[in-house]
Amino acid sequence: MNWLSINIDVQHRACLIIGGGALAERKCHTLLAAGAKLTVIAKELDERLQVRAEQNEFEYLAVDILEHLEHLKQYELIICATNHKAVNAQVAASAKAQGVLVNVVDDAQLSNVILPAVIDQSPLLISVSTAGQAPILASLLKAKIQSLLPADLNTFCLNLSKLRHWLRESALPMNQRRVILNTIVSNYLKGELGSETSEPQLITKAKAIMDEDEPRGMVYFIGAGPGDPELLTLKAHRILQNCDIILYDNLVSPQHLDYCRKDAEKIYVGKQADKCHTDQNQINQLMLGYVAQGLQVVRLKGGDPAIFSRAGEEYRFLRDHNINFAVIPGVTAALACAAAMDIPLTHRDHAQGCLFITAHTAKQEHYDWQYLANARMTLVFYMGLKSLENICQQLLMHGMPAQMPIAVIAQGTMPQQEIYISTINELKHKIKPEILKSPVLIIIGQVVKMNLQEHKNGG
Ligand code: SAH
Repeated sequence: MNWLSINIDVQHRACLIIGGGALAERKCHTLLAAGAKLTVIAKELDERLQVRAEQNEFEYLAVDILEHLEHLKQYELIICATNHKAVNAQVAASAKAQGVLVNVVDDAQLSNVILPAVIDQSPLLISVSTAGQAPILASLLKAKIQSLLPADLNTFCLNLSKLRHWLRESALPMNQRRVILNTIVSNYLKGELGSETSEPQLITKAKAIMDEDEPRGMVYFIGAGPGDPELLTLKAHRILQNCDIILYDNLVSPQHLDYCRKDAEKIYVGKQADKCHTDQNQINQLMLGYVAQGLQVVRLKGGDPAIFSRAGEEYRFLRDHNINFAVIPGVTAALACAAAMDIPLTHRDHAQGCLFITAHTAKQEHYDWQYLANARMTLVFYMGLKSLENICQQLLMHGMPAQMPIAVIAQGTMPQQEIYISTINELKHKIKPEILKSPVLIIIGQVVKMNLQEHKNGG
């Protein structure tokens, strides 16, 4: 390690930026945000710096820095942001000789200070530095880390500091205080505290932990989205990175599991029609057992966790057993598949609504086909692979125009996605359900016409 990472208090301290262009403006923004008493030296300023100068955000000196090198020692930090390598070098050498911290933008060799990429959740600061070697890597890493962080981290950090103070005033021994803070912070990072992070709410939690004998686990129902794992929400991702056990269904792919905590235990509990599957009662018992051990359990389901799944029964079971749970919604197949085909599910002229329908029971004639055929709504059939022909036939019989467009998408949003576009009258001549690879979604309605893509498998 060649560089020591430190944070400097520049509040009301004299700092200097040399340069009047875009680079200087960016640094100016950073130093002003940190409360510095700033001077800018440049022969001229670009438009944005000019505006800041007119608003007296800093003192502007339109002089040649090389004629004022002996004055550098009055500054605590100097940032050199000119395009002239020779000027930068002279300023850096002179500043160092006078014992002043100097950063030359994009030149670590000339600098004795490097400004890292910073995630500012003051008072929390997360700095990423590559010692000036690969600034792009630092800034992309920063974005990646940022996407993993809760949005209210700064408020939580402030309130945690108040809680720490409150605990210190209490008579509790230090190790107990540490356990309480640890539990609260990890609960927060797992998303368990929700929005209950104000100072009084944190104190209430701390008191509850003091009174608690056993740690308590909970269950998260998480929607993985269909196919493409990048459709996971940020919240889902964060919880998946923190949980202990993942009970996942068959629409969840190995790529989704790559986004989960490496050492979390991953257990397949899929139910597939016509195949042997984990009994619902077994899943319930697994949840119960793990939660009793104080573990964080995720029920990871494809799409949205509560659309055409048995989530409702699982919620009821957990409620009956007094187990805490939270539901993290996911992108359901209808939304993602329609997006993958550029089909708007609603349209002011063609579809005043959209119905999500399970085709699982289509053959049993439970449906009001009359209504469905004439609803002026987009019909989205889930689990319709086996009843594809029956669906088209029923809709035709009940008055849907024969030319009504239909889209069938197999393995939507995955690399091997296949799309077929036709009409409800023609479809059976175009595809045989046997060639379709599950999962398959069917979209019927005028909106399908809005799809302008060339589909290699379509008609
Ligand atoms: N909870 C899921 C749906 C579970 S039912 C969700 O909200 O999406 C399973 C059905 O969803 C499948 O039979 C299929 O109709 C649809 N489905 C899920 N993922 C799909 C995908 N990637 N492509 C096409 N259809 C999909």
